[in-house]
Amino acid sequence: METTLRGVGVSHGVAIGEVRHMGTAVLEPPAKQIPADEAPREQARARQAVEAVANDLIARGNLAGGEAQAVLEAQALMAQDPELMADVERRIAVGSSAERAVYDAFASYRALLANAGEYLAGRVADLDDVRNRIVARLLGVPMPGVPDSDEPYVLIARDLAPADTALLDPSLVLGFVTEEGGPTSHSAILARALGVPAVVALPGATELAEGTVVAVDGSTGDIYVDPGKDRRAELAKAAEERRAALAATSGPGATSDGHKVPLLANVGGPADVEAAVKAGAEGVGLFRTEFLFLDDSKNAPSEEKQVEAYRQVLEAFPEGRVVVRVLDAGADKPLEFLTPADEPNPALGVRGLRTLLAHPDVLHTQLRALARAAEGLPVYLEVMAPMVADRVDAKAFADACREAGLHAKFGAMVEIPSAALRARSILQEVEFLSLGTNDLAQYTFAADRQVGSVSRLQDPWQPALLDLVAAAAEAARAEGKSCGVCGEAASDPLLACVLTGLGVTSLSMGAASLPYVRATLAKYTLAQCERAAAAARATDTADEARRAAQAVLSGE
Ligand code: PEP
Ligand code: MG
Repeated sequence: METTLRGVGVSHGVAIGEVRHMGTAVLEPPAKQIPADEAPREQARARQAVEAVANDLIARGNLAGGEAQAVLEAQALMAQDPELMADVERRIAVGSSAERAVYDAFASYRALLANAGEYLAGRVADLDDVRNRIVARLLGVPMPGVPDSDEPYVLIARDLAPADTALLDPSLVLGFVTEEGGPTSHSAILARALGVPAVVALPGATELAEGTVVAVDGSTGDIYVDPGKDRRAELAKAAEERRAALAATSGPGATSDGHKVPLLANVGGPADVEAAVKAGAEGVGLFRTEFLFLDDSKNAPSEEKQVEAYRQVLEAFPEGRVVVRVLDAGADKPLEFLTPADEPNPALGVRGLRTLLAHPDVLHTQLRALARAAEGLPVYLEVMAPMVADRVDAKAFADACREAGLHAKFGAMVEIPSAALRARSILQEVEFLSLGTNDLAQYTFAADRQVGSVSRLQDPWQPALLDLVAAAAEAARAEGKSCGVCGEAASDPLLACVLTGLGVTSLSMGAASLPYVRATLAKYTLAQCERAAAAARATDTADEARRAAQAVLSGE
């Protein structure tokens, strides 16, 4: 029978499919003793699990081909190592359960590998993955990491980190549902980048049984478990109507009376560019360069590799605007080789620009790579720093850009309330502002953007957040400079109208949201947007602000 659950809808559209769980890290199996007469059965169980995992790795290798096949086959060989199996059987013979024996045998093999020099040490992660797979199989829990599935599925997770999502095959993911996270969490951002529906902050999401059929409505936040025939038909009809309405809009972003608001795309690298161009983005408003840094946990990408990636993005927007954000490492985007491991409160510690100023070589290489990538191209390159707190930060960044010989506009992200409050002072050093409303909400409300239970405070309709947006936009207007929004607030069509009414000069969002924003903005005049903004700011809560803006725009 159909049941309905409700979370927070963060990426539009409807997906219907079977759920697959993102496997969590394998827990350490308890060290309980088994009776001696159970040992042969446990040994057989261990052998079967090892064989099944090895066969699965080989089968997936055959499907993948190329370099991936070689890696997966090497993992299968690790699983089948006769000495390792002999150690597992010995441990079971003296009282270990199969899962505990596998866990301990791999631990001692791992220690051997880790001490055996660089090449072998590099294989430790692969070995851990093999161990986790065998232990998960023995415990009967989902495989760790991204689900192994050849069929499209709805992904269920507690929350998703950028490193997890880098491994997802976008052609298989119909939609996301997460237990944690808010509108600005990485799950939400990634879902919008992929253009798949998503619901976050759904209590009990991880308890949905593997294989259950769900319908995910990313606009309302509703999840229909075992949806009936009528429900499916109703959702399909609504999705079709929405598609038709969107297909009818095109061209640059503007209000109905012609006030231009360039609609730009948020991208994580060259792979996102095609969707941005297809959605009619007028440029890139936020290139999150940290995704380039995720491939290697120990080193920054080489200058050459960076030049190549930046150039691919810049070339896609000839004569358009491309705003590149320099590396934003730390807090929700940790990088092993840059982020301090022992900070009590990483979101308030060394992150963003602070990290780069502590590692000037990394900043300099990135700025040089950007300068080289833009050479000879007609693109309007703009480069901005994340987490600028004050004028001192803004000056340090602008100096670093000049030192690297960068011919571009330099800007500052407004993500810390101090930057919004003193925006005019920051604008003495840089030429534009870009509001990162995700972090700005986090720091304004002291509400961690990764924690589902405080997602109420992450709501970008909060009037206090709108006040800070207004302060920054007003400062930029007074200085004759631009102030865009590149946080997730820009991807909410109604809020995009309010932001326009507050005076922001461009809106940047995941490509999939762009047609929705364009279509909504084109329905109202600038004066209506301004009235909606004033009405929203005059309220006390996010819900009231949303309702007040809606009432103004619908002429109630
Ligand atoms: C923001 O904080 O709003 C932003 C755009 O940056 P990120 O989401 O990457 O932290
Ligand atoms: Mg941010």
